[in-house]
Amino acid sequence: MNLNDVKDNLKSQGYKLTNQRKAILDVLMDHKGHVLSAEEIYEKTKERYAKTNVSTIYRNLEILENANLIHRINMNGEASKYKLICNDKHHHHIICKECGKSQSIDFCPLQDIHDEFKDEDFVLTDHRFELYGYCKECIKKKNEQV
Ligand SMILES: [Zn+2]
Ligand SMILES: [Zn+2]
Ligand SMILES: [Zn+2]
Repeated sequence: MNLNDVKDNLKSQGYKLTNQRKAILDVLMDHKGHVLSAEEIYEKTKERYAKTNVSTIYRNLEILENANLIHRINMNGEASKYKLICNDKHHHHIICKECGKSQSIDFCPLQDIHDEFKDEDFVLTDHRFELYGYCKECIKKKNEQV
């Protein structure tokens, strides 16, 4: 999805494209290969739109998540991180624990489980699954430090 698609999509769902939302989307687009914390999004959005405040950042992130335009990714024991959705098909990510760099995995390793659950007492509706590791650059940096 490019930025215009995201903006059109938001408008088509009845949301106004406020200056702050525009600024947040610009920030997310600039970092589309990385996950960012709400704090980082706040700092970077403020550079573009000075009237930004923290509580509206959280509110807008919630709206964008409900509109299916951003991913909210739970990092182990850390605050959630966010990124623009990569594409509208079901997919997963591998994320660098050091710098937040992320790549999409367009294949679902859990599809078999969904198939197997068809006749069970549960209706399986969705799942979350992310892979964590270190990107090449971060491994290089780590090795140089030693
Ligand atoms: Zn994605
Ligand atoms: Zn990294
Ligand atoms: Zn899946």
